[in-house]
Amino acid sequence: MAQAVYLQTYGCQMNERDSEEILGMLGAQGYVVVDREDEADVILLNTCSVRAHAEERAFGKMGLMQKLKRERPSLVLGILGCMAKAQREDIFRRLPQVDLVAGPAEIYDLPDLLAGVAERRQQQQLGAGARVLAIDRKVRPLDRRPATDYRAGQVAAFVTIMEGCDKKCAYCIVPTTRGQEVSRPVDEILDEVQQLARAGYRQVTLLGQNVNSYGKRFPDGSGWVGPARRRQLLHLSAHPGEANARSGPPDGPRLADFPALLRAIDGKTSIDRVRFTTSHPFDAHEELFQAMAECRTVCEFLHLPVQSGSDHLLRAMRRGYTAEHYLGQITRLRELVPDVALSTDIIVGFPGETEADFEATCDLMERVRYDSAFVFKYSPRPGTEAAGWADDVPQPVKEHRNQAILALQERISREKLEATVGDDVEVLVEERNRRGQLTGKSRGNTTVVFDGADTLIGEMVGVRVARVTGTTMIGELAAGAAR
Ligand code: SAM
Ligand code: SF4
Repeated sequence: MAQAVYLQTYGCQMNERDSEEILGMLGAQGYVVVDREDEADVILLNTCSVRAHAEERAFGKMGLMQKLKRERPSLVLGILGCMAKAQREDIFRRLPQVDLVAGPAEIYDLPDLLAGVAERRQQQQLGAGARVLAIDRKVRPLDRRPATDYRAGQVAAFVTIMEGCDKKCAYCIVPTTRGQEVSRPVDEILDEVQQLARAGYRQVTLLGQNVNSYGKRFPDGSGWVGPARRRQLLHLSAHPGEANARSGPPDGPRLADFPALLRAIDGKTSIDRVRFTTSHPFDAHEELFQAMAECRTVCEFLHLPVQSGSDHLLRAMRRGYTAEHYLGQITRLRELVPDVALSTDIIVGFPGETEADFEATCDLMERVRYDSAFVFKYSPRPGTEAAGWADDVPQPVKEHRNQAILALQERISREKLEATVGDDVEVLVEERNRRGQLTGKSRGNTTVVFDGADTLIGEMVGVRVARVTGTTMIGELAAGAAR
């Protein structure tokens, strides 16, 4: 009989996409996906390690699942993703019933790893979990991507364009858990996007920890940093016209960067909308802004995490830019893409953050006037550089700063949204919400809600904004739009 699998995802959009790949792979092996833990033969948690809180939630959930396993010893429990890599065998000590711990670089091995769990269980009567540990790979073998796939939505899809992160932000565990950067080849991404477009998807979101360094290293070693770089650069200087995304001698090394990838998707596929995340300010250049301005499909939206408005903290965080440089980038972007919507990530309570540092962050936020912001209280992560520094901002101060920034952003978001009342916005309709209204996103990534027929799901329509709530535009179909 088919095995039933339940998978819960924590953390970022990259994890959501990894979970889709996992379900696609297991589906092809005959597993049936269920949405209730008590109906599952295999329970997997795809986890996040960015903050201690994310890990504690997964530990808590798996603790509950161990109780299920005591009633039903045949149940298989697995912890996948970043927490697996960060906590390694310690997971078996805290959660003795867990059978499998597998890192982000091992997800393509999952069918084999689950077979290994079954084998171990057959060989011996286990009082505890099977304790299969797979965390040693440094880089995910992108060339072993499974052919089968699964997507949660039907209108908008995630497309992972690269894995890992080569930055060394002092607070961040991601380079440890996800390993070295490696990019998927351009042609493979173009094929995936075109297949999605043919299947009826209207939007793709390109995913990577730092999409702006796309193309640095491909699985075959080529890229703008790699053993073949020099040869390729020499070839390109002899044939300058080939300096685009599909350039390079056949089967030879390639040279492509993120703006070139955006242009290739815009010019060579029939997808209607392209988004991307995350951009690191250090690698976000004029060429990116030019590509955003020139590619019709690329939405006028940029998530550009600043983390802090204080140069002294940005230096300590090893971010590689100053507040001034960042503000200059925003000015240039707005010159090229005047209607661009902006969002950011802010960390409050980083070691050494003074009241003046905090005020510098508030000041930067007032100057940029983001459309939205994610605010995080600093959480020391073992193994990172900053974990060795005193976590010296007291918890109540972190909490206060967190609330103050949220309130500041709420005011700015509201003011910006209120200014859109009466405007017509282009909406990609995604689904019907719980109240029975249609909902979708504007090009600037704001949720738009309005009344209309089911036939509009998956369509691009014009909506006139009638009023706004905290983060949502409420409107009606603009004259001329299909009903
Ligand atoms: N790669 C992206 C970048 O650099 O902008 C972000 C990826 S990270 C998973 C998402 C966000 O989590 C970061 O931008 C940062 O604000 C936050 N974050 C990462 N480590 C953190 C930590 N130790 N404590 C609090 N927030 C953290
Ligand atoms: Fe973490 Fe910095 Fe890499 Fe983003 S760029 S994933 S914050 S190390």
